[in-house]
Amino acid sequence: MLEEECRAAGVRIFLNTRVQEIQRDSGYLIRTNEAAFGAPVVVIATGGLSIPKMGATRFGYDVAKQFGVRVHECRPALVPLTLGAADRDRYCDLSGVSTEVVAASNGHSFREKMLITHRGLSGPAILQISSYWQAGEPVSIDLLPGTQGVAALCGSNTNRDINSARSLLRTRLPIRLADRWMELNAPGRWTNRDLIALEEHLHAWKVVPSGTEGYEKAEVTAGGVDTDELSAKTMECRRVPGLYFVGEVVDVTGHLGGFNFQWAWASGFSAGVAV
Ligand SMILES: Cc1cc2nc3c(=O)[nH]c(=O)nc-3n(C[C@H](O)[C@H](O)[C@H](O)COP(=O)(O)OP(=O)(O)OC[C@H]3O[C@@H](n4cnc5c(N)ncnc54)[C@H](O)[C@@H]3O)c2cc1C
Repeated sequence: MLEEECRAAGVRIFLNTRVQEIQRDSGYLIRTNEAAFGAPVVVIATGGLSIPKMGATRFGYDVAKQFGVRVHECRPALVPLTLGAADRDRYCDLSGVSTEVVAASNGHSFREKMLITHRGLSGPAILQISSYWQAGEPVSIDLLPGTQGVAALCGSNTNRDINSARSLLRTRLPIRLADRWMELNAPGRWTNRDLIALEEHLHAWKVVPSGTEGYEKAEVTAGGVDTDELSAKTMECRRVPGLYFVGEVVDVTGHLGGFNFQWAWASGFSAGVAV
């Protein structure tokens, strides 16, 4: 359908052609590895840095800088987080285990599934929070959102010991995770205070990721061309007539759920109507 629309509008599509340089005089000169083209306007839609093996490049950011357009520092987002060696030893043999959590960092939180991987944590809750997480900061994970775990043993007549706590936790968490949690965190005594501390820990497990899986695995790139530099209506640079930036190269990062595609299409449409 897109190709048909392009044909109808007289668009020529050049495949396997890399834009290498853009110069501005009275209009724009675009040099590629194949040929050079003159044009009155240029729309930069070169995307972010994610998945370099699919053709991601820095070109759009470099063009922005060349024309004095502000660019916010880029970083991988919607990306799995990695754990340091100690936490990897504790948890990563549970790779494949997933559970619903609330993951929180920097004043943002997401209630979705978390997945333990062989290098750290992933799943929608972790991908979402990775867009807000800053290196060196903790991510707080509520493993039992909206429900109680071992605190139910407080004041009960059941034996207060690791077996009853584990049995209870197994009804709330995947069995392997419940068992590992009790292995690592069972208190020395089983007073009400100890049970409450254990409960609080389950609701606020503080993990300090060692990093992210990087652009190789990131679904998007946070940062990019400053939106204040662009007309919100047309995406044209306020200070550089005829130069437009659309899509992921712009500093707009959506949550999971199709919002990044939507932004790319909507901003491309706005520029298309304007040019
Ligand atoms: C694995 C993965 C899964 C994703 N899943 C979703 C999802 O479910 N929902 C969602 O909303 N978003 C998703 N995204 C994000 C979404 O794909 C991007 O936000 C969107 O494609 C950005 O569109 P764009 O047109 O700005 O850039 P892109 O789609 O990245 O296109 C940019 C193009 O420019 C080309 N290019 C770069 N430099 C040059 C150059 N110098 N010369 C010529 N060409 C060049 C690149 O090769 C690329 O083909 C996902 C991304 C990844 C990587």
